[in-house]
Amino acid sequence: MASQEIETLASALARLPGLGPRSARRAVLWLVKRRETALVQLVQALAAVQDTLVECSICGNVDTRDPCGICADPKRDPRQLCVVEDVADLWALDRARMFTGRYHVLGGRLSALEGIRPEDLSIGKLIERVAEGGIDEVVLAMNATLEGQTTAHYIAERLEAFPVRITQLAHGLPVGGELDYLDEGTLAQALRARRPVS
Ligand SMILES: [Zn+2]
Repeated sequence: MASQEIETLASALARLPGLGPRSARRAVLWLVKRRETALVQLVQALAAVQDTLVECSICGNVDTRDPCGICADPKRDPRQLCVVEDVADLWALDRARMFTGRYHVLGGRLSALEGIRPEDLSIGKLIERVAEGGIDEVVLAMNATLEGQTTAHYIAERLEAFPVRITQLAHGLPVGGELDYLDEGTLAQALRARRPVS
């Protein structure tokens, strides 16, 4: 039986996505054995991020400054806006380096099952950004899940009144696929072959 502190650390790690109690315990043991080379580094990295982490007030990205690096980058094309469900999707798409515009993070997707309604997501803010003008194309980069596609259709309808081109990722995406898990080549291809929302 481990000490209370070790138990607390193990259960905190067990809550991380992709880790369960078993792998959390293994991670704790691994860290304890590498106190100087890994544990200290991890503690410092976590503290540095905790001190500076903010949500971008424009797009919802998570960064160490507000506006985030993408919104503040003058080389980014302000006429193109890519809408994603989560920050993880934004990071995945940006790793693919195909999209040179800016992003908008919804903070989830519509779900009747989980009771997630349009007002629970950052859809109102998206409409405001489009209504301000200066945007030519909105790329709907929702996951290829039923809920992701429902969300995309809802947003496409809300944006119909505005003079913008609305496109979505090509359906080279595997059905049920979450963007975050796709390799960069597949994502880049889905972006390159994006098509108008029908
Ligand atoms: Zn931003």
